[in-house]
Amino acid sequence: MNPILGSHVGMSGKDMMLGSVKEALSYHADTFMLYTGAPQNTRRKEIGQLNIQPAWECMRANNIDSFVVHAPYIINLANTVNPATYEIAVEFLALEIERTAAMGSRILILHPGSHVGAGVEAGIDRIAQGLNEVLTAGQDCCIALETMAGKGSEIGRSFEELAALFDKVTHSDKLRVCMDTCHLHDAGYDIVNDFDGVIDRFDQLIGKEKIALFHINDSKNERGAGKDRHANIGDGFIGTEALRRIVHHPDFLHLPKILETPYIPSLTDPDKKVAPYKEEIALLRERA
Ligand code: FE
Ligand code: FE
Ligand code: ZN
Repeated sequence: MNPILGSHVGMSGKDMMLGSVKEALSYHADTFMLYTGAPQNTRRKEIGQLNIQPAWECMRANNIDSFVVHAPYIINLANTVNPATYEIAVEFLALEIERTAAMGSRILILHPGSHVGAGVEAGIDRIAQGLNEVLTAGQDCCIALETMAGKGSEIGRSFEELAALFDKVTHSDKLRVCMDTCHLHDAGYDIVNDFDGVIDRFDQLIGKEKIALFHINDSKNERGAGKDRHANIGDGFIGTEALRRIVHHPDFLHLPKILETPYIPSLTDPDKKVAPYKEEIALLRERA
């Protein structure tokens, strides 16, 4: 089996989701990840305007059988300081689950949230409360909590914090985890020299069958920096070899691997930035 590789893609204009599929195909990807609108705001189009059917026809014709959705990063379920922020997050998340299911994906990736000074425990309680408001027994779509780098007051920097969320959520069978390589590395996990040890630790606390996907990014900072700055594959402190080992790891071959590396200056027009994904996907597909 070959790894299932893709990247973050856009969704806009008249084509909407069909455009996302076409972009993924232009990178020779096997899968993709989209935001249902701008990641930094909560303005969203109606489900009927997302052009879902033609997108799926194009996917089927090209052997892409799944994709994932990322919730906007401004929604913060952990906020106990400003009640309005929390309420907006809960409301938006419930709609986002509906949209994700309507689009035909079962995975909605969520940054757990930032406690903004109230402390990790208060933040975790609040996130669990919010997840308990939106997760129901009957739903098809799971929420994949992303491992975070730990910048600012981010929750989810350790497997212990994620495990606490699993413990406090009633329908925790609807929870999964998105392993972001840059975030793991920046949070201090040694995925370069001891990926299997990191996975063993995760398995003890949460269970490795809960991993739904990987975000494959290199990191601009040293391990433990707590920064969260993605680097292009091979341009950072994780390196191509370590990322390849993760991408080809036999335990996770069936899981989607999504690139979120930065755009790079175009060779023909240095003022223009272009996606590196076609080249990076090809680079990671090679075994060594
Ligand atoms: Fe993310
Ligand atoms: Fe990520
Ligand atoms: Zn990140």
